[in-house]
Amino acid sequence: MPEGDTIHRHARRLGPVLVGRRAELVMPRLVTPAPSPVEVRGVRVHGKHLLVDLDPDEADPVVLHVHLGMPGRWDVTRPAPPGPPRGRDVRIALTTSEARATCRKAPVAELLEPGRETRHRVLGRLGPDLADDVDLDAVVRRLRDRPVRPLHVTLLDQSVAAGLGNVLAVEACHVAGLDPRTPTDLLTDDELRDVYARGRRELVANIDRVRRTTVPGARPGELWVYGRDGRTCRRCGTPLASTALGGNARHVAWCPSCQPPRTR
Ligand SMILES: [Zn+2]
Repeated sequence: MPEGDTIHRHARRLGPVLVGRRAELVMPRLVTPAPSPVEVRGVRVHGKHLLVDLDPDEADPVVLHVHLGMPGRWDVTRPAPPGPPRGRDVRIALTTSEARATCRKAPVAELLEPGRETRHRVLGRLGPDLADDVDLDAVVRRLRDRPVRPLHVTLLDQSVAAGLGNVLAVEACHVAGLDPRTPTDLLTDDELRDVYARGRRELVANIDRVRRTTVPGARPGELWVYGRDGRTCRRCGTPLASTALGGNARHVAWCPSCQPPRTR
């Protein structure tokens, strides 16, 4: 599933071709046709969600909410091709005089009326976007209000802070030197702030990279521990450990030496 860095990268491609422009909007799956044309006011990201602020001619402003899930993607075509968007997998097409942005296969592509975003069952519960200048003390306070869970499960809780997915959470635990299984009540506030700060740093650093990379100076795509089960730690040579964690049984890997287990 795309993580916050990937969604910010999409937003940085979409913003320059859409914002401030008038666009024809087509959303083939909607029962009621989408308003069109629209003025695109902005492209925003909140965690793993992409939000496009729209101002239709004869209706109240609306927010276009997109979650790409595993299969979704955005394509930008310049110049805009003639005729309607093609393909059964099209969820959204925004066509300006210069370009077309097409979203395909996204499981969530919906229009939200004004004010609905804060009451939305998913968007309304999101913590702050980690790519922003986040108050990490507030993140830790929110975390302490939640039940005690393994650190990795907590890092994925988008209501604490939004943006980290499985890969960035596993990598953040490694660079912070923390075992991803550690119950959060065994960690100090400083340790929690540090692991979120490191996750944030990796998220922001990877917005401009085509392949997510966490190892400084390494080839594109090189990660410290994620997906490296059965291999050895890049820092110390210890064989990496791995397990499934949390309700969704997310696969995590760690170095037992650099990320030693905590006991009560
Ligand atoms: Zn190690």
